[in-house]
Amino acid sequence: MKKIIIAIDGYSSCGKSTMAKDLACEIGYIYIDTGAMYRSVTLYALRNNLFDEDGTIKLSELEKQMPDINISFKLNEATGRPDTYLNKENVEKEIRTMEVSSHVSPIAAVPFVRAALVAQQQRMGDEKGIVMDGRDIGTVVFPQAELKIFVTASAEVRAQRRYDELKAKGMEANFADILKNVQERDYIDSHRETSPLRKADDAIELDNSNISIAEQKKWLLQQYEKVCKA
Ligand code: C5P
Repeated sequence: MKKIIIAIDGYSSCGKSTMAKDLACEIGYIYIDTGAMYRSVTLYALRNNLFDEDGTIKLSELEKQMPDINISFKLNEATGRPDTYLNKENVEKEIRTMEVSSHVSPIAAVPFVRAALVAQQQRMGDEKGIVMDGRDIGTVVFPQAELKIFVTASAEVRAQRRYDELKAKGMEANFADILKNVQERDYIDSHRETSPLRKADDAIELDNSNISIAEQKKWLLQQYEKVCKA
């Protein structure tokens, strides 16, 4: 079967990564979570005091330090999924905290951060056989992707999913805070100047508010087979 690029974009916490990971596993493709890359830069910025008291990013310092931020992925044999590494440290858990979630969208709106990460993401797709999820994969990173999916769900459904996910990992979670964070990130992600979140004209839209993970998985596999058999 020919190898293709699959781009999965959509709003925060709408289950993109679950569907992307499951599909990649099923068809033997590499899975890349680009949100984890923006989260890693954010974690680095928090740890290195690159935010002012009022949350403003110290842009010139961050720009100088960008070459020191090395992000990679390594398969976790126990979970069967890739873990995120920041300068060789496994940060898979640290990048999912509310502190990182509430600082990530402003970091992801910075043009030089996007340019560096998009270039890295494009290199990862050189050989195709990749499922990548994010906000701008079908529009900016791989406008030539053979299959593009745009996922949506109501903000309440998405906040509940993020809440359940954090609780299941034994992490702190407050539903109202999570809902507010989801809504704020939607707003910043869709209104930023560089690569705002939007559906690519040729993407297939999926509202998964009321469908199960199993149904979603089956639907996605059908879309993949349709493209590969065409
Ligand atoms: O997907 P996830 O919610 O982990 O992404 C975290 C944040 O990273 C998003 O809210 C968005 O601001 C940013 N992001 C982005 N472009 C991507 C992936 C994520 O701007 N391709």
